[in-house]
Amino acid sequence: MLTTLRKIVQDVGEAKDFRTALEIIVCSVRGVMQTEVCSAYLYDEKSSRYTLMATEGLNKDAVGKVTLGRSEGLVGQVGLRGQLINIDDASSHSQYCFLKDTGEEQYKSFLGVPIIHRRNLLGVLVVQDRARRCYDESEESFLVTMSAQLSGVIAHAEATGSLHVLSAEKQKRSVRFNGIAGAPGVAIGVAVVLVPPANLSVVPEQKAEDIEAELTLFHHALESVRKDMRTTAEKLSDLHPEEQALFDVYLRMLDDKSLSANVCKLINEGSWAQGALRQVMEEHVRHFEMMDDPYFQERAADVRDLGCRVLFYLQKADQVSITYPNQCVVVSEELTPTMFGDIPRDKLVGLVSILGSSNSHVAILARAMGIPTVMGAVNLPYGRMAGRELIVDGNLGRVYSSPSVDLLRHYQKVVNEEWEFSRGLESLKDKPCITPDHYRIPLWVNTGLLTDSVRSLEHGAEGVGLYRTEVPFMIRESFPSEVVQEELYREHLAAFAPRPVTMRTLDIGGDKSLSYFPIREDNPFLGWRGIRVTLDHPEIFLVQVRAMLKASVGLDNLRLMLPMVTDISEVDEALHLVRRAHIEVQREGFDVLFPQFGVMIEVPATVYQVRHLARRVDFLSVGSNDLIQYILAVDRNNPRVADLYHALHPAVLQVLQKIVDDAHQEGKSVGICGEMAGDPAAAVLLMAMGFDVLSMNATQLLKVKWTLRSMAHSQAKAILNDVMTMDNPRDIRNVLELALRQQGLDQVISG
Ligand code: PEP
Ligand code: MG
Repeated sequence: MLTTLRKIVQDVGEAKDFRTALEIIVCSVRGVMQTEVCSAYLYDEKSSRYTLMATEGLNKDAVGKVTLGRSEGLVGQVGLRGQLINIDDASSHSQYCFLKDTGEEQYKSFLGVPIIHRRNLLGVLVVQDRARRCYDESEESFLVTMSAQLSGVIAHAEATGSLHVLSAEKQKRSVRFNGIAGAPGVAIGVAVVLVPPANLSVVPEQKAEDIEAELTLFHHALESVRKDMRTTAEKLSDLHPEEQALFDVYLRMLDDKSLSANVCKLINEGSWAQGALRQVMEEHVRHFEMMDDPYFQERAADVRDLGCRVLFYLQKADQVSITYPNQCVVVSEELTPTMFGDIPRDKLVGLVSILGSSNSHVAILARAMGIPTVMGAVNLPYGRMAGRELIVDGNLGRVYSSPSVDLLRHYQKVVNEEWEFSRGLESLKDKPCITPDHYRIPLWVNTGLLTDSVRSLEHGAEGVGLYRTEVPFMIRESFPSEVVQEELYREHLAAFAPRPVTMRTLDIGGDKSLSYFPIREDNPFLGWRGIRVTLDHPEIFLVQVRAMLKASVGLDNLRLMLPMVTDISEVDEALHLVRRAHIEVQREGFDVLFPQFGVMIEVPATVYQVRHLARRVDFLSVGSNDLIQYILAVDRNNPRVADLYHALHPAVLQVLQKIVDDAHQEGKSVGICGEMAGDPAAAVLLMAMGFDVLSMNATQLLKVKWTLRSMAHSQAKAILNDVMTMDNPRDIRNVLELALRQQGLDQVISG
C-alpha cells in the first residue's frame, strides 16, 4: 500500500495544474480500490457549500456544477462530523440526498472521508459501488491516508489561488498566503527570488551543449577553489594546527588526479559539468562513508563540502546577475543572514521566507533593520513569484500577490500611517524612559550588523544589551583573525562609549551555522551550541576574548557575556579562560580593566541555579527566545508549531519572575535581551517584574519607550498581579492590550 500511495503522491506532485492533480487522485483511487466511483467534493467556507470538483464514475458534466449545502447529504454529514461514513445502502440513510445530474442513484455503497488540513475542513473524498457492501478496514484506512495526503495539495491550491481558477472565477483577485509575522510593518514591492547556495544533491541530469566549454568551466572552478583554500589557510595562520591541516587535506583532494579525470570523463561522454561533478563526488562520499575507520568516515563530510565549493563556482558562471528593482521584496525558501550582504539596502523594502519562524535569527535581524518580514509562508509557490507585485504584511504575517486596486489603496494608507507614527516617535529619542510615576528603566539595544550601531544611536539607545558577535562571523568565508575581530569590536565599543556594550561570545550551532565550520546534527537546538562549542575550541574562544579585551583599551565599556550556559562548571571554565586572556593581553602591554562578566539564562536548568550563578558573575541576562523554546518545547524555527510559542505563557511569566527575584536576592542586576523585551505589551510586565534593563532591537525601542512613559509603574504592577493569576496566554495578551488601548496606545498593538 505504501508504494502505491507514494506513486500516487508522486504523480499528483508532478501534475501540471490543480485540475489534473484532482483527476489523477480520483482516477488512481478508483483503480487501486477497484470501486466504480471515486469523487472529490471541495468545501468553500464563504458560500458554505461543497462542489463536486472531480469524479471517475459519475457524470463528468456535473463537475463544477453540482453543489451541496454544509449539512446536506452524506457528504455534508461526513464534513459535519469530521469522521468517515461507511454504509452499504446510502439511500436508506436519513440524510441521503439525491443529486440530480450525477447519475449516482444507482450506487448503493458509500464510503466518504473528510479532507482536513490543520483542523480546517477542505472537502470530502468519496468512493461508491452499485452492489451493497461495507468497505473493509484496509479500504477505509487507504482512503483516510489518501485524504490526508490530498489535504496538503488542496491547502496549497487554495493558498495559491488555483482553486479560484478552477471554480471559473473570472475576476482578477489578490491571492493571500498566510505565514508568521516576522518583522513588523508593511511593504509593497516587486518580488526577487533568491535561491539557496550550492547544493550538490539537487543538481539535475543535463546534457552538455558544448563539451569544450563545460571542461573549461570545470577547470576554472577547480582553480578558483584552490585559490580560496590557499587564501583561507593563510588568513587562519593563527589557528590551531589541526584546523590548518584540514585545508591541506582539501588541497590534496583537489589535486587528486582521479577525481578530476573522472569528472572530465563524464563530461566528455556528454554530461554537463555540474552533473558530472555530482556523480563523481557522490561516489567518493559513499566510498568514505562505507569505511570502518571513523576518521575516514568523517572525511565524507569534507568531500561533500569540497564538492559544494566547486559547484558554487560552476553555478556562479551560469548565473545571470540579479537586477534589484527599486522597491524590492526578497523571497527565498530559506532566508539566511548572509543574503543581507548581497541585497542593496536602499532598494530592499520587504522579506518573505518560506521556512523559519518569528524567532529565527534571520527574522531577528530583519526586525533590527526595520524591514517588514513574513516568515513560514509555507504555501507560497516562491518559484513563480519573480517579478510579481507583492504586499508584505509583517504585522499580521500575510503576503498578497497580484493585489487588487482596493487592497493596494488600503495598504498604501497603512504604510503612510506607519511612517507618520515612527516620525512622531523621533521626538522621544533623547528623553529618558521614565514612567509617569517616576520609575526609571534603561532601554538598551541588541546589535550584530554594522549598520545597527548607527540606527541604535539614532533611536537613543542607552547601551548595548546584546551584541551577537556571531553575525560578523556568519557573513564571512572564514574565521576572522584576532586583528580583524579587534578592529570590529573596537568600532562597536567606540561608537557607543561611554555607554556599556555587552558582547556575547560566539553563539553558533542551532540555526546559526558558519559555512566554513559546518555542524551537522539531528537535534541542533539540543546539541553543540554556544558555550559548548567554544569551550571545546578554546583556541577560538581565546582569540575572541583577547580581541574584545584589546578593543576596549581606553574605553572600558566592555561587558562580556556567555550564551547557552547549562552548568556551573562551564562558567568556571570560561571565567578561567577569560582571566588567562586578560593576563596575556596585560603582559603584552594592553592596559585594560577586567570587564563586567555575565551569563545568559536560556536553559531551564539555569533558572534553578540563578543564585549560584549570580554569586560568580556581575550580571545576568535572560535570553527569552531560547528560554521560551526550551520551557514550552516549541522549536523557535518551526512554522507548524509557531502558534504554540507564547512569550506570555503563564509558565514563562512565573519563570521570569523567579529569575528576577533570585538575582536580586544575590544583589545582582538582571536584564532581558530576547525579542520579548521589544514587545511593548510584554515590556510593561517585564518592567513590573523588576528587570533592571530591557534590551531590544532598535526598531522597537521608541515604541517601548513611548509605552512605558505613558504607563505608571504602579499600574504595570497591578496588571502584573492580575495576569499572574491567569492560566491562558491569550487571555493575558487580551488583558494587556486592553490596558494599552485604555491608555491611548493602540498604535503599538500590531494587527
Ligand atoms: C535569546 O535566546 O533570547 C537570545 C537573545 O539569543 P539568540 O536569539 O541569539 O539565540
Ligand atoms: Mg539564545
